[in-house]
Amino acid sequence: MIKFLDLKAINDQYRSEINEAIKTVLDSGWYIKGFALEKFEAEFASYCDTEHCVGVANGLDALILIFRALIIQDKLKVGDEVIVPANTYIASVMALTQNGLIPVLIEPNENSFNLDLEGLKKNRTRKTRAVLTVHLYGQLAVDVSSYCKENDLLLVEDAAQAHGAQNENGQRAGSYGIAAGFSFYPGKNLGAIGDAGAVTTNDEELAQLISQLGNYGSEKKYHNSILGLNSRLDELQAAVLSVKLKNLDHENAQRRIAAKYYSDNIKNPKLRLPDWDQNVKNHVFHLFVIRCRERDLLKNYLEDNGIQTVIHYPIPPHKQNAYNEWNDLLSYPITEKIHKEVLSLPISPIITKEEQEKIVNVLNEF
Ligand SMILES: *Cc1c(COP(=O)(O)O)cnc(C)c1O
Repeated sequence: MIKFLDLKAINDQYRSEINEAIKTVLDSGWYIKGFALEKFEAEFASYCDTEHCVGVANGLDALILIFRALIIQDKLKVGDEVIVPANTYIASVMALTQNGLIPVLIEPNENSFNLDLEGLKKNRTRKTRAVLTVHLYGQLAVDVSSYCKENDLLLVEDAAQAHGAQNENGQRAGSYGIAAGFSFYPGKNLGAIGDAGAVTTNDEELAQLISQLGNYGSEKKYHNSILGLNSRLDELQAAVLSVKLKNLDHENAQRRIAAKYYSDNIKNPKLRLPDWDQNVKNHVFHLFVIRCRERDLLKNYLEDNGIQTVIHYPIPPHKQNAYNEWNDLLSYPITEKIHKEVLSLPISPIITKEEQEKIVNVLNEF
């Protein structure tokens, strides 16, 4: 069986370094908010070319804390509308509703699966105050930062799938808006060995406030000036992430090589392949997502042939039970079609040529 993703094998590449990092933290006797976190925050800010990085407990918290901080700063108000692509992972939407903001779901561009400028222009109303763009599947969404600036909209990025993705000028995901949320969930391109996340921003006050909010709202131990939560990136995860960050560009390059192999060799008119530019590094292939009208049949066929695949995602947010008030009210034909057709093939920095050859051959015979 070719696994969809072999996390043990990915981390085994760095086993001795990771062991060493874990031992150093264990021996230090200091496990929360210490040197390892400080080091990783500085490294990741530098990697994204932002002034600040604040480690938090996970990607959802990163987004929740960004919006909570913007509300505390009076840059957003409870009840404000925020545009977000309708086909995103539900965490993007939860970050808004859990702060009392109103998500305005909009159809994505069919080729990129991401929000585009036309969609944004068409759907912006007088009540729109912010945009949450998502670099879905690892592909940098089109840059809407100038449009947002001109129209007084706050731009926040959900960069949870796009660590390292960069535009033709080298500008990386996480540096386009007022702040960005990252996830280091184990399966992400930069993955911890547990839950972890971060916010990147160039706004010092915002960084400070998010750090405070993630630590019970205390500016000094046992002095709580605002109501916060406990959302911290612990020392063990930070130390492991520092080891893995050094190899992120290489791993993303390996993912692009694998994606190019699929793109060049999958030849089946029933399958629609990702639309991407091989000459730039704006897609880091967190996922290699194909589309097929007979998706469920295809998934079973691959499974029968020893190939594990995953659907990202089977149900869009507006059709989830958690948002049952939208189930009958909202309709997004493009998004709903995407959710019926997408299938993610195995891809990773260590997928082998043999595995890919087999996958391509099986796909071409479907
Ligand atoms: C993974 C992910 C998140 C949430 O990250 P967690 O660390 O799992 O909380 C948010 N948005 C997107 C697009 C994601 O893929």
